[in-house]
Amino acid sequence: MTHFYGKTKICYGEDALANIEDLPAKQAFIVTDPFMVKIGFADRVKSHLDRAGIPHRTFDAVEPDPSLETVMKGAKLFMQDHADLIIALGGGSPIDAAKAIGHFGHKASENPVKPMLVAIPTTSGTGSEVTAISVVTDKVNEVKIPLNDDDLIPDMAILDARFTRSLPPHVTAATGMDVLTHAIEAYTSRQANAFTSIYALHAIKCVFEFLPRAYANGDDMEARTQMLLASCMAGMAFNNSGLGITHGVAHSLGGIFHVPHGLANASMLSHAIRFNIFDAGIRYQEIAQALGLAATKVEEGTESLIQAIRDMNDSMGIPNRIRDLKIDESVFREQMDTMASNVLEDICTGGNPRQPSHGDVKLLLEEAW
Ligand SMILES: [Zn+2]
Repeated sequence: MTHFYGKTKICYGEDALANIEDLPAKQAFIVTDPFMVKIGFADRVKSHLDRAGIPHRTFDAVEPDPSLETVMKGAKLFMQDHADLIIALGGGSPIDAAKAIGHFGHKASENPVKPMLVAIPTTSGTGSEVTAISVVTDKVNEVKIPLNDDDLIPDMAILDARFTRSLPPHVTAATGMDVLTHAIEAYTSRQANAFTSIYALHAIKCVFEFLPRAYANGDDMEARTQMLLASCMAGMAFNNSGLGITHGVAHSLGGIFHVPHGLANASMLSHAIRFNIFDAGIRYQEIAQALGLAATKVEEGTESLIQAIRDMNDSMGIPNRIRDLKIDESVFREQMDTMASNVLEDICTGGNPRQPSHGDVKLLLEEAW
């Protein structure tokens, strides 16, 4: 069976935030981090709730890679308030935490009605505002707990580029390359379909056109808006199609060497494309053609795409090899077997067009070093 599920009402444009005032809520629970409060972003959300007469509490204890402990603390407060609206404000971490708070809080409460979840992303990267995924970390046992349930998909996403305006260039670059990786892996996934491909291809074109502009000038609001839309569309695509081996490797590089997610994807992406050429070459050629690159043959299209990705990384100071990610070579080699096993077990690798063996993954890691 082929399916495409898109549940989230997406609001964007100048007055998008004002949609909060029309929500049929009695008590709101804002999930965010201390920085969002400090720079006044939480106040913007609160002022709309105040105008609508919706009482609210702000839970601003979310840390990067939110812990189970934080989520449970939030769920307890959310239940105490009998909140019927959760507003997630921030990057991937507050949105992931808000999804988990709603999930656990609702499970533990006696209220049969699920709280409404509104996500307001402040980076253009994760697509978490439209996906069914949340990852929380059990810091006591040092394990990641991935949640994946259609119930976690936000009911509404508000895309307001003013929230991404102050992102520094290196964050714009890394999160933007994460969007590109989501879109390219969604387009070439084993589970790609007609609907996911349309969203993915549009997102790819947007990134090539607008990421260099958003990187060069953070105040370019057209570029900021288009990157938010691209991030959301790539999220819609991969939420249905799954991803690929670039993400499998990035998760392992993140887990073992703490390489930031976007950076790990950016430096792996071109290697993964070459790795997949015999299984997805035609799809890479299609992408290259859509971008107006030289692509008369499969090989030429794939090479053009690889070169375009490398050039974009170069122009933003992002490495094209693992060795330039401040990883010690001897530790990398020691960890290679473990990494290859991690990659094979990673849920994202299941969507990759080429189904690799342990040895294939090691060769890929060697190539990318
Ligand atoms: Zn990603």
